Amino acid sequence: MEAMAEIDVSRIVYFDHAATSWPKPDVVIEAMERSLVTAGGNPGRGAHTLAVAASRTILEARGAVAGLLGIAEPRNLVFTAGCTEGLNVAIKGLVRPGDRVVVSSMEHNAVARPLNLLAASGVIVDVVTADEHGCVDADAMEHAVAERETRAVICQHASNVTGAIQPVGDLADIAHDAGAVLIVDGAQATGHLRVDIGALAADIYVSSGHKGLLGPQGVGLLYLSSDVDPDELVQGGSGGSSEEPMQPRLRPDRYEAGTSNTPGIAGLGAAAHYLAEHGDALRTLEAELTAQLHEGLLGIEGLRVLGPPPGVERVPVVSVVHDRIDGDRIAFELDRNYGIAVRAGLHCAPWAHDTIGTLDTGAVRFGIGYGLTAGDVDTVLSALREICA
Ligand code: PMP
Repeated sequence: MEAMAEIDVSRIVYFDHAATSWPKPDVVIEAMERSLVTAGGNPGRGAHTLAVAASRTILEARGAVAGLLGIAEPRNLVFTAGCTEGLNVAIKGLVRPGDRVVVSSMEHNAVARPLNLLAASGVIVDVVTADEHGCVDADAMEHAVAERETRAVICQHASNVTGAIQPVGDLADIAHDAGAVLIVDGAQATGHLRVDIGALAADIYVSSGHKGLLGPQGVGLLYLSSDVDPDELVQGGSGGSSEEPMQPRLRPDRYEAGTSNTPGIAGLGAAAHYLAEHGDALRTLEAELTAQLHEGLLGIEGLRVLGPPPGVERVPVVSVVHDRIDGDRIAFELDRNYGIAVRAGLHCAPWAHDTIGTLDTGAVRFGIGYGLTAGDVDTVLSALREICA
């Protein structure tokens, strides 16, 4: 196999934070290395020094992430491989044939595809269309919920296509008044917004560790309130109660069968500490850079900026469509000629693109985050002016 050429990362201008954040804070990398070097036993399995060190690493990380996100009981926070896995547990673990689900039309395939599968086995899936900016209307969701008995309301906290922030607090009330549970996909919200899951009153809140939370890839989180009890999707070793033939019901062990991603969880724990200290400053910077980019994009001829208009709060995601030039072409030229990383296409969210009328074209998405500066936004804008000229 040919060795991969060394990439000069110093020339990369990274605007793909909505896919995954990069670079990571040094403390994240150091914590992962520490986990591998000095705490490399199997967590929860064995009583020797390295196994105990690994268990402690996870215990501390769980506490740090729970603290950051307003989760009162860390045992209700399950570490997963990512947002996709958590959403699958939430949806498939709770919803049964004959149940009805009300879901927004802005959802990612991590929600849409499990629901499409369940719809084939008798689950009723009612999709409520968001507006042309990709904003979910709480009244429309309420109206749909009121139509018939509903098991679950599912909505994202923020859109990975338009950056729109959705009214999940209102949806919690709407779901609970109807005796349904609210499942929130927080992949684009955690880190970028000050998320307090306890205050939000979502029954289930799912997110990625590798986006705005600044952790590594391969780790995510699933919060389950004490009032919900989805089936686990995977059974296996849980470290203790080995004589039990069935999966123990103890949280979080029930949902974490098999050896955990200890280095990834260590990195996420360090990222949570980092955000507890620097999160407010980072969010302020992200909002400024997003406004600067948004405004600049509006001034480039041929580009149409998707999502909420300037002045309306959004997460740091801005997507555009050009009236002549293909999005893939723009992304290719940005990468090839300017070292700027963005993502074109449908962003695993065909429902969302269909909602805002961009299913045929897709869009070019700019995801802002840790490590970017106002100068980087200027670099992107001047590159786009040249490409679009
Ligand atoms: N939901 C949304 C809104 C997303 O943006 C993403 C990531 N693109 C996911 C779910 C899936 O997240 P993960 O990659 O952590 O599985």
